[in-house]
Amino acid sequence: MGRAAARSLAGIFRGVSPPTSHDGERIVLEAVESGRLDAGLAHVLGDRLEDPDARRAVMEGAAESKRLARGDVVTVSRNVFIPLTNLCRDRCAYCTFARQPGSPEARTYTLAEVAEAARGGVATG
Ligand code: SF4
Repeated sequence: MGRAAARSLAGIFRGVSPPTSHDGERIVLEAVESGRLDAGLAHVLGDRLEDPDARRAVMEGAAESKRLARGDVVTVSRNVFIPLTNLCRDRCAYCTFARQPGSPEARTYTLAEVAEAARGGVATG
């Protein structure tokens, strides 16, 4: 699906009538087959995730996309992430705990808190 078509489809879906579960399944199927998902259509799917059928279609599409790219191999990286602060000036939203400068919740952790997190990592392997 080309960008123009995807934008048009996303526009239709954001219009008066909400997309059906069938529409969501079609978007996912096309994304899996083409190996790409237009940002506009991703937003359409994201807006529908409270619908169990749409959520199931997205989850199955993600699993199939992963299988096509990597087979059935699942890898795990054991690590412990110990931030020294939750302060972040950027807005990438990766760290769900990040707080912007000026937020009353922004803080730097104490050495005792850092040590406790490290001990927790050791304890959980
Ligand atoms: S939220 Fe993003 S930019 Fe901020 S610390 Fe985390 S990864 Fe870095």
